[in-house]
Amino acid sequence: MRDVDDEDTGRRRSKTERRQGPRRPRTGAGDERPTRGARDKSVRIGATRVGKGVFARRRYPAEAVIGEIEGQIIDDPHYGSDYCMNIGDGRTLEPAAPFRYVNHSCEPNCEFDFFDLPDAGQTDTRRRVFLIALREIKPGEELTIDYNWAAASAIACRCQSPSCRGWIVDPGQLDALLARLAVLPSPDR
Ligand SMILES: [Zn+2]
Repeated sequence: MRDVDDEDTGRRRSKTERRQGPRRPRTGAGDERPTRGARDKSVRIGATRVGKGVFARRRYPAEAVIGEIEGQIIDDPHYGSDYCMNIGDGRTLEPAAPFRYVNHSCEPNCEFDFFDLPDAGQTDTRRRVFLIALREIKPGEELTIDYNWAAASAIACRCQSPSCRGWIVDPGQLDALLARLAVLPSPDR
């Protein structure tokens, strides 16, 4: 697989912005460890138009838990990075591979969700994040989520889905973004 810099991934964003949480929560922990998804054959990382992406290696029914999104939890409300995910309570997950490379789509087939769950054999819970199928996913399909970025960090979207919003932005902030763009001075004037 080829390596691409952040410019090519279409995911560059400001230090203070992060992926907005889903309607429901998500979580995870552990740094630089091989993930379950990396060891088993359920998903693979491959090249896409916009950089790396994650692809299903098997069929998933709707609502299936595809895998746990592991990574480092950062307890700093001001933390931001190209890939981080808001997991509530001012905390952020910096996801590890493979799910670090899940791309945005305006018509996603997955979402992430977080739960406070114990590890096997433990009683204390910790916030853990999972990638969940929104519909049936066939082997070879790219897995995507809706990044739901704030208008301030929106970038042009190249997802090419029929209902593409044109921007990687929270649908609830699209009107605000377009209003902001409409008052920009035209380069012809
Ligand atoms: Zn789009």
